[in-house]
Amino acid sequence: MAELIYSGLTKQFDGSAQPALDGIDARIESGEFVALLGPSGCGKTTLLRLTAGFEEPTGGEIRMGDTQVAGPGCFVPPEDRGVGIVFQSYALWPHMTVAGNVSYPLEVRGLARAERARRVEEALSLTGLTEFAHRAPAQLSGGQRQRVALARCLVAEPRAVLLDEPLANLDLALRASMQENFTAFHRRTGATMLYVTHDQGEALALATRVAVMERGRIRQFAAPEVLYSEPADCFVAGFVGDGAVVSASAAGPLGRNGLEVETMGLRVAARSNEALPTHLCIRPEDVSLTDEGGLRARVRGCTYQGGRFRVVLDTGGEDLVAFSRLRLEVGAQVGLRIDRPWAFREPGL
Ligand code: ADP
Ligand code: MG
Repeated sequence: MAELIYSGLTKQFDGSAQPALDGIDARIESGEFVALLGPSGCGKTTLLRLTAGFEEPTGGEIRMGDTQVAGPGCFVPPEDRGVGIVFQSYALWPHMTVAGNVSYPLEVRGLARAERARRVEEALSLTGLTEFAHRAPAQLSGGQRQRVALARCLVAEPRAVLLDEPLANLDLALRASMQENFTAFHRRTGATMLYVTHDQGEALALATRVAVMERGRIRQFAAPEVLYSEPADCFVAGFVGDGAVVSASAAGPLGRNGLEVETMGLRVAARSNEALPTHLCIRPEDVSLTDEGGLRARVRGCTYQGGRFRVVLDTGGEDLVAFSRLRLEVGAQVGLRIDRPWAFREPGL
């Protein structure tokens, strides 16, 4: 396993006005499970394809450990990079059994029969497929097919495993159990994993760190809980997690890691690293329904989420989100308090 290091990585496809990747700088440590999260078209697949060697960058470089694999005057072809890739579409050979599919990459490499058998057995066992070895792909469920694709990737003992929306074709319940499969797999193998998804729940649940991408750039690269509680900009604040992003300005110092900000005609104590923030990210947990908070709002919507209600509150300008244990009537007036939300400075403002 090796770390992946991107420096100023840029990809501009012929004939397109905007670069698909616009100066990616990132370092993924050996054995990390990293998710690339972002809306459709932000460049996630392009970053995977450049990493695997299916595309050449137009600028910058990629290193794997000490080795440059792409850069000015340097291009290591896919078969010499030792990375495995798993696609959403599985791409299994229908006429081969599960074992045949998994064994195929080793046959291509000319490995001896006994060694092949040993490695296939191990890959099938790691992915929980031992009992399906002799079935055809058509006799498997979607989740099982995805596991075959994973086993076929692993059997080659890749230095890094790249996964492009591997669960996008599966239903919700199966996705949850496959997510557990991926984390268990990562725990057992310690593989470096780069996992593309546009589903924030999946990214936050699986990865040790998440790179949030937008329009070819990484906006923030941090642990899930940091993305959620300390977003770097309005895009990340709005894309990851529930809540509201509202404008705010500094009203006075507060001391350790905090300051007083003015927002919606109110003074609020906020968490921050900035002396002059421009916005607040107000998560539902930061909003309490109480008559002592100084702010009034009208209930705009109330939906049951199992165990609690999600309440959208119209404060007369900005909508906030709160959780409530009791159902609230739409149109009702409530009081609320905002408690230590995250204040940040939008870059470029
Ligand atoms: P994502 O996987 O995040 O949805 P992609 O990496 O597939 O995004 O695409 C990023 C951008 O690059 C998009 O604007 C897409 O249209 C463009 N793009 C991707 N592949 C090609 C290609 N082969 N030729 C031209 N444009 C491409
Ligand atoms: Mg994609």
